[in-house]
Amino acid sequence: MGLSWNKMQSNYNSRYYNHRDYVRGLNNYGVTCCINALLQSFSATPELLELLDKYNPAQTEPNDVPMELKNTLCAMRKEQKHHSPHRNFLDCLHRHSIHRYIQHDADEIFHSILNLTQKQMTDKDLAEEIRKLYEIKVETQVMCKECGHIQKTPNSLYSLPLAIREGDNTLESCVQSYIQQQPLRSGNECYCDWCMKKQPTTHQLKLVSLPSVLCIHLKRFRNYGTTRKLHNRVTFPETLHMNTFNGQSENAKEYYSLYAVIVHIGSAFSGHYTAYIRHSLDQKWFYADDSNVQQATWEHVQETYKGGKTAYLLLYRKMSENASG
Ligand SMILES: [Zn+2]
Repeated sequence: MGLSWNKMQSNYNSRYYNHRDYVRGLNNYGVTCCINALLQSFSATPELLELLDKYNPAQTEPNDVPMELKNTLCAMRKEQKHHSPHRNFLDCLHRHSIHRYIQHDADEIFHSILNLTQKQMTDKDLAEEIRKLYEIKVETQVMCKECGHIQKTPNSLYSLPLAIREGDNTLESCVQSYIQQQPLRSGNECYCDWCMKKQPTTHQLKLVSLPSVLCIHLKRFRNYGTTRKLHNRVTFPETLHMNTFNGQSENAKEYYSLYAVIVHIGSAFSGHYTAYIRHSLDQKWFYADDSNVQQATWEHVQETYKGGKTAYLLLYRKMSENASG
């Protein structure tokens, strides 16, 4: 029994990585650690590299985010060692109001980069493929407790925003809470189209479909008047089974494999971003702290479960077992 990914992987690798030193450090140009960490995760996503490589418009507008992203990710794979392949990309984002010398939120910047790519890409089919690569489809279901009528509202997301409870959490328990049925508070009733009046309702989120690249956002920043960071323990596995959450059979031979972790170090007011990246070539973990890159282990990654240095975004890749091997 083998993984269908293996064949794809060797194709990607021969095309995109031709030397061992494949995780490139990135200089910090004024609180750009957040963007640097995200670039490391994009660079470890050959599915995205392959799509961006097809982006060759006759002409682009100035400050074209997808073109600068493509050029940066391409330069990060080149042999020559320089730590500033992302200068133009940073300048480009700066002109789109993602400024340097400002603390950014990695989830917001992740969304901004993908949204700007969608908006600016002239090749709309390609933009659609990039959207699909990350798109999580969810449905809000509001059920009337009187008549049982369910009102469904579809929505799509680039990252799954998971709340963290006080105490210890597992990633699976956070997903479970996210989709759990919630009664709306009394006095907060919803209009039922069937009963034609306001009725008590329950509220539930349903995962309709999950993408090839699943980004999970651990909501560690909470606003209590002032923003506070939750340092609570959240364990997450290297191999994640999502079948039970989206109503698929438990026997479905699909699972997710962790390949990047965006880490936030510090507090809500003063922080730094780094990234753990697992390279598809030999499955080894690397730790990228701006220009400093070192090899790491799964045990190092697990140290980001709690405390001051915590996992903030998790990137999982869908894998499927191939029965024919
Ligand atoms: Zn009703």
